[in-house]
Amino acid sequence: MPELPEVEITARRIGEAVRGARVESVLAPGMNVMKTYQPPLEALVGREITGVRRISKMPVVEFGDLSLLIHLMSAGRLRVSDKRASLKDRAARVLIRLEDGRELRLREFGTKQRAWAKLLPSDKVAEDEMVATLGPEAWPAPPLEEFAAAIDKPRHLHPLLRHQKDISGIGRSWVDEILWEARLSPFKKGTELDAAEVEQLHAALHILGDAIDHYEATIGAQLPDKVPMPLKVHKREGEPCPRCGTTIEAVFFAEHQTNYCPKEQTGGRVLKDRRLSRLLK
Ligand SMILES: [Zn+2]
Repeated sequence: MPELPEVEITARRIGEAVRGARVESVLAPGMNVMKTYQPPLEALVGREITGVRRISKMPVVEFGDLSLLIHLMSAGRLRVSDKRASLKDRAARVLIRLEDGRELRLREFGTKQRAWAKLLPSDKVAEDEMVATLGPEAWPAPPLEEFAAAIDKPRHLHPLLRHQKDISGIGRSWVDEILWEARLSPFKKGTELDAAEVEQLHAALHILGDAIDHYEATIGAQLPDKVPMPLKVHKREGEPCPRCGTTIEAVFFAEHQTNYCPKEQTGGRVLKDRRLSRLLK
């Protein structure tokens, strides 16, 4: 699932590749992929791509005073292709064909069709409900006071940091890395943090910037289908903690998992495996 660092490098690389290219035709083979009807997608024909940016985990492709706001959900990918997609490509959701023969593609893997796009006047993007309801961006890190207020909620840090309306850009992978960096338990509540812990967590957001730097250094002009994420603890159960050598543990939920170092994050406690304890009930 692409999170803030992966979408940031995607926006940068695609922006570098297609800025200045002109749209020849557009196609939306995805069922219900377009969440707006006015202006129609055809309004992009003849327009120049003026930039690609990112809001939280959403890429935004700009065509002058029109912008395409994209939500990749869990399996969407935005890529530039030198060739045009076959009409039989079942993963195709939005195809933007460029006059130079290339194609900007929104594709989605798996059986679910959940990715979506909205074509909006560029000056209305900030007012869109998906954008207007977002909490502060996790990177660049907001000022400490703003961050402290955003996470001052009686919820566990693991879901709290992934809740886009509180703080935006973090998902299931990077949340584990940030909590590990901050040496905080995923099951500590936002309201339970003392001032020093809030500062530790705030400081740990540099993990997202480090990931972007890593991608800048390792990813060339051509984005791979799946960006390899430089994760140290997420999905690393059974491996030694890269900092202290303690075995990384995991708690499994229905659709995701959280990994942590028990020595440094939970005071030595190994947390109950929710999946296992449900089976034992
Ligand atoms: Zn450790």
